[in-house]
Amino acid sequence: GTLAEACTSVPEDAPHAPDLLAKFDPLIAEREALLATGVRDPFAIVMERVLSPTEAIINGRHTILLGTYNYMGMTFDPEVIEAGKQALDEFGSGTTGSRVLNGTYAGHKACEDALKAFYGTDHAMVFSTGYQANLGIISTLAGKGDYIILDADSHASIYDGCWLGNAEIVRFRHNSVEDLDRRLARLPKEAGKLVVLEGVYSMLGDVAPLPEMVAVAKRHGAMILCDEAHGMGFFGAHGRGVYEALGCEGDIDFVVGTFSKSVGTVGGFCVSNHPKFEVLRLVCRPYVFTASLPPSVVATAAASIRKLMHADAKRAHLWKNSRRLHQGLRDLGFTLGTPEAQSAIIAVMLPDQALAVGMWQGLLERGLYVNMARPPATPAGTFLLRCSLCAEHRDEQVDQIIEMFAAAGRAVGCIG
Ligand code: PMP
Repeated sequence: GTLAEACTSVPEDAPHAPDLLAKFDPLIAEREALLATGVRDPFAIVMERVLSPTEAIINGRHTILLGTYNYMGMTFDPEVIEAGKQALDEFGSGTTGSRVLNGTYAGHKACEDALKAFYGTDHAMVFSTGYQANLGIISTLAGKGDYIILDADSHASIYDGCWLGNAEIVRFRHNSVEDLDRRLARLPKEAGKLVVLEGVYSMLGDVAPLPEMVAVAKRHGAMILCDEAHGMGFFGAHGRGVYEALGCEGDIDFVVGTFSKSVGTVGGFCVSNHPKFEVLRLVCRPYVFTASLPPSVVATAAASIRKLMHADAKRAHLWKNSRRLHQGLRDLGFTLGTPEAQSAIIAVMLPDQALAVGMWQGLLERGLYVNMARPPATPAGTFLLRCSLCAEHRDEQVDQIIEMFAAAGRAVGCIG
């Protein structure tokens, strides 16, 4: 026969290997059962139009957005948009190359300069996403024979960074200073150690006891990386993150962050004062082996970061919104992830998937979008409706949000 025939015909004696997607049959069945009850798919929402950082058209309906990470509402900032348009005109739509080859433009350096000024650090390295920043920095810092000690509730990108490298992985109980101490004490004294923490944990919106954790890590000679994805922009006097707010500057060796939340675009970064930091650009695979961010993206990021340095009024309003929503939902009788508003994430805890999806849909039908989160993303198998506030939510929007929760909660019977 022809070469094409030889390539497509299956030989008689080929082993009958299983369908590689068969392992997802239970998940497919679970989803089909859920959707058969008539609810919308919470993971298939389309924003038909986006009107502002806090409003969009979903299913043809005007909807308040309470499930974005647009904490500082920078996505429609006129200066940010203008910077992006200008870069698009002057530098084109993309770089078509790696940061270490043809993909470093003036805009990438300007963006790193903006980060250095924002964080007051000697070094800044911009990645194509925050996911890749964690993947790259963690896997490159901790290698064979080293130990990574991470919080059990760490973000997926931190876990994946651990798995990409060759270090030994040790988990400690979420936010437990004692467990961190105990586990560090068991490790060989002479081994390299990286403790990985997050300022805000994004599922429940709780904050890490960073000063205590930093003290323990230092006592055991470990280096510290802190992911400030959900703290950048509004924690601390300069908006650097929880570590600034809690007085841990100077103690954190590496801060990782993202442009996909308060900054309002996409991208990731690591900032540090380590004198050898720049060598990471040559050895960090998720930095080297991927294309750099488009010029318009780094231009919008830099413009946004420069404005966030002086965004005190926005920070104050975001905190006010977060505290008002927390109080309002607590007064209605909802079970929340934290006893008080610790961040701009307010997690409403629901006992099972059916109630969570019912409540989620009830809110959507009333014109409110929140994030649905389920295991394995959530701790301890919980079902959460995660609300994240924006500095641009107006007072009357927060009032409307609380009213919609009251109505939807009574309709599905999860509050009295
Ligand atoms: N770290 C944490 C704690 C996050 O929550 C996220 C995103 N949700 C990331 C890192 C990854 O950020 P990015 O969206 O830029 O990939």
